[in-house]
Amino acid sequence: MTHQYPALTTEQKKELQDIAQRIVAPGKGILAADESTGSMAKRLNPIGVENTEENRRLYRQILFSTLYQKADDGTPFAKMIKDRGIVVGIKVDKGVVPLAGTNGETTTQGLDGLSERCAQYKKDGADFAKWRSVLKISETTPSELAIMENANVLARYASICQQNGIVPIVEPEILPDGDHDLKRCQYVTEKVLAACYKALSDHHVYLEGTLLKPNMVTAGHSCPTKFSNQEIAMATVTALRRTVPPAVTGVTFLSGGQSEEEASINLNAINTCPLTKPWALTFSYGRALQASALTAWRGVKENEKAATEEFIKRAEANGLAAQGKYSSSGTGGSAGQSLYVANHAY
Ligand code: 13P
Repeated sequence: MTHQYPALTTEQKKELQDIAQRIVAPGKGILAADESTGSMAKRLNPIGVENTEENRRLYRQILFSTLYQKADDGTPFAKMIKDRGIVVGIKVDKGVVPLAGTNGETTTQGLDGLSERCAQYKKDGADFAKWRSVLKISETTPSELAIMENANVLARYASICQQNGIVPIVEPEILPDGDHDLKRCQYVTEKVLAACYKALSDHHVYLEGTLLKPNMVTAGHSCPTKFSNQEIAMATVTALRRTVPPAVTGVTFLSGGQSEEEASINLNAINTCPLTKPWALTFSYGRALQASALTAWRGVKENEKAATEEFIKRAEANGLAAQGKYSSSGTGGSAGQSLYVANHAY
């Protein structure tokens, strides 16, 4: 039988749980603005802005969201954000690499030197981290190998983060690509999450000091059948209830190419779904928090205020949705536009 030697002190556990709770306090969520330089090109090119360091800095100044860049007056963003009572996090994985012999599946790399990097990030003001694993639904995937490998690498990352006082966000993203229906996505989500929580347990990860960042359970992007927001919410909460221990402090969904409005409506439906939900259920959106702001900005100085206002609109909508208090004023306009990108990578 396995035996657990002490991994974290009572104080370390308390710190981790406090951080996790602050992130998912009622009405709070996460702005995922941790795009790699390559992914920023996908954000900036469509609005006609060159993907330069200065333009990325200017854009993030609008969103106040990155660690080592600085605002116009030289204040590091990490300090600016912290001074406003916001918890700062950092992406620590180094992207996906192929798993040879599989049907295009991947694992995520970045474990080497991770402990040293986490220690430095903690000193520099980061209190949580993100690691994204990716799984795909097709007739032959996800394979047992991809499920086990990604669950294990996520658990190993989570363990290293916690040893350095950093709350790990565990993100096993199941991509929305494919023509599968809601049931198939629910089944796969349950298998993937069950494997993750087995691995987290095996690695002695302190669940109260973690957050889960899953996909919502939705039908594949090319599925001919359309499902209601209530059906999506029911399938999502059912999958979570079957696999995510109540000790986990919060679930922060990714938006996965849903339109801004869809992502807010689905989050609201998840929070009003009539099943018992033992965790906070909120957002960690990238595209669904940034799309309108990017369109409003277009790299023009005079548009910065308008861009900030668009961003605040989405943040407020999602803050309400995280409490089941959001009522949509319709899915028309730019907030209703799909943000789906095939085989999306960060
Ligand atoms: P989306 O909300 O755009 O899917 O991104 C969230 C994220 O950070 C994925 O790692």
